[in-house]
Amino acid sequence: MNKGDVDYDYLFKIVLSGESGVGKSNLLLRFTKNKFNIESKTTIGVEFGTRSLQICGKIIKAQIWDTAGQERYRAITCAYYRRAIGAVLVYDITNKQSFEAIERWLQEVKENADREIVIMIIGNKSDLKDLRAIRTESGQELAKIYKVGFMEASAQDGSNVDQAFTQIIEKIYQNIT
Ligand code: GDP
Ligand code: MG
Repeated sequence: MNKGDVDYDYLFKIVLSGESGVGKSNLLLRFTKNKFNIESKTTIGVEFGTRSLQICGKIIKAQIWDTAGQERYRAITCAYYRRAIGAVLVYDITNKQSFEAIERWLQEVKENADREIVIMIIGNKSDLKDLRAIRTESGQELAKIYKVGFMEASAQDGSNVDQAFTQIIEKIYQNIT
């Protein structure tokens, strides 16, 4: 920290991917602003949100990128993934199709991002217990096959949101130090 305008030790670009409607924008909103938006239809122009965390006495600024709804047209560009050091792939535990799509999103990340990228899968909407379509174990198994992190979370009630982002940020930190 030698420049007056830099208030962090490390800046991590982390991208969100996954089908439309799974709650990517709300996970970002919860993690960075502790807010939730019931009506969010399409992302309202935010490119990314940031939050700083302290790990081992260092300040890590996580810059989390959100799609602007391009995922609906499968048209996320490689610029989105450029210089990303982490990727969070999200599905909705009440939506089987969004879970089945995770392998395609993993493929896309692997094709477009750096090889060392740290990946984490989030099964979102864990508050919707009665509508669950994907067992927790299925998410765990998929993550195990691809050797990536996994957590179920809820952007709505906030459970596990900080834990999931903190986990990927700590993993990235361990990789680079
Ligand atoms: P995105 O298209 O992946 O960015 O998804 P959004 O964040 O726009 O969310 C899509 C819809 O799901 C919105 O109506 C949200 O309010 C809702 N949603 C997002 N996260 C959760 C959650 O954890 N629980 C519940 N019940 N609804 C959620
Ligand atoms: Mg969105």
